[in-house]
Amino acid sequence: MNFTRASRLLRQKSTSSYRVLSYSVARNFAAAASRADVPRPLLYKRTKSQVPARRELCTSDGVFIEPTENKENVWLGSGELYLLDNKKPIKLPLAYLRDACLCPLCKDPHSKQRTFRTGDIPQNIRPRWIKWDGKELSIKWANDIPGYSTDHTSVWTGDYLKRPIFNTHERAHSPDDGPLLWGQSRMNRLQHWVSFEDYVNDDHAFTVAMKNLKRMGLIFVKDIPESREMVEKIATRMGPLRNTFYGSTFDVRTVPQAKNVAYTNQFLGFHMDLMYMNEPPGYQLLHCLENSCSGGESLFGDSFSAAHAMKMEAPQMYQLLSEHCLGYEYNHESHVYYNKRPIFELDPVTKELLHVNYSPPFQSSIPSPDGRDHDVRFVSKLVHAIKTFTTKIDSTSATFELKLAPGTCVIFDNRRIVHARRQFNASKGSRWLAGAYVDTDALLSRFAVCKRQHPEAWRWNEATS
Ligand SMILES: [Zn+2]
Repeated sequence: MNFTRASRLLRQKSTSSYRVLSYSVARNFAAAASRADVPRPLLYKRTKSQVPARRELCTSDGVFIEPTENKENVWLGSGELYLLDNKKPIKLPLAYLRDACLCPLCKDPHSKQRTFRTGDIPQNIRPRWIKWDGKELSIKWANDIPGYSTDHTSVWTGDYLKRPIFNTHERAHSPDDGPLLWGQSRMNRLQHWVSFEDYVNDDHAFTVAMKNLKRMGLIFVKDIPESREMVEKIATRMGPLRNTFYGSTFDVRTVPQAKNVAYTNQFLGFHMDLMYMNEPPGYQLLHCLENSCSGGESLFGDSFSAAHAMKMEAPQMYQLLSEHCLGYEYNHESHVYYNKRPIFELDPVTKELLHVNYSPPFQSSIPSPDGRDHDVRFVSKLVHAIKTFTTKIDSTSATFELKLAPGTCVIFDNRRIVHARRQFNASKGSRWLAGAYVDTDALLSRFAVCKRQHPEAWRWNEATS
């Protein structure tokens, strides 16, 4: 369970406890207030474990809660602090709060790096002063990390504490950032083309292209100068080249006795690249330099769309393909690679589809689920589920097809978009594509920077995309 989910559950738990307990809290507070011998400052102290069982007014034992209008809205448990937000307590472990301090002493404003280690936080860290005004929480610590002066004040906004986002990319996520599933008709309508000139020199146009790449997983660059160097130039506008044993850039041409089926003139069915690597490349570029042979059209399909359809129509098959791994291998004289992964790779917590892994030409034999002999019924179910997926992928209505012309480059998400190529006649004419890969990390970073720097261009507009 990740922390987001855990904290959500804790909040739900705390909320229900609070409803039951609020009456006794109010009664205690009233009783204490009427006693003349109750000194201030006051400490609201929890007496039972796990949830705020009872808030008592106690004499201070070192924790000063800044008297504000909202002083009843913050209190301490043994290792946690509770904030009352809209009558619901938010439970915040003190060590978590200390760790999350973003003050300039804890996070260097220039390097943006932490200046302390999580392991430095004292096990029983506790505050000596707390202030919560409903918008901002401030804490001074009684036993801070060694080396911190007594001036050190940790401050967090209420919004951050209420809705912490632990993944930087999620912080920047907006509803119209997610994948827009497509089939042939939608891609015919929305296909995004950007000129090389605009892609390279116009930040606005580049941002629109990146937004389309993020949502559709597939874009095209046109009017590219006739040069083998250009694929690198296009790739590095997004991020550093991903090197593989094919080279930092590579050529797809017909060669005799090719080791890889992509280098021949036979039909090459839908697949993704380098599934046998530990981290398959996130994005692929193919710059067309020559394409005068007859045939050789490129085909693209949205595997997320096919996955979604399977999830709706055949949830058990969807589940099977998300749980059972297929093996992928590349086994030649000088390079030996192997990895196994499920066709549908899901987020372990949210169960959202993260990647599709699909590359029939590089599959090895089906790994058995428990390392023992294969069960006949299981294998037959698996084959049937794969066939169902393949049928969806191969369907004409799901396929976007074009013949890449010299001077165009396709960029696509290799963890989502399947690509294929029709057979071509190599006896007449020539066919030459220059390829490159850029990692997912680099593109996530590029998307985030584009969005931050050109929010107006990042806004999704189906009409102009
Ligand atoms: Zn700090």
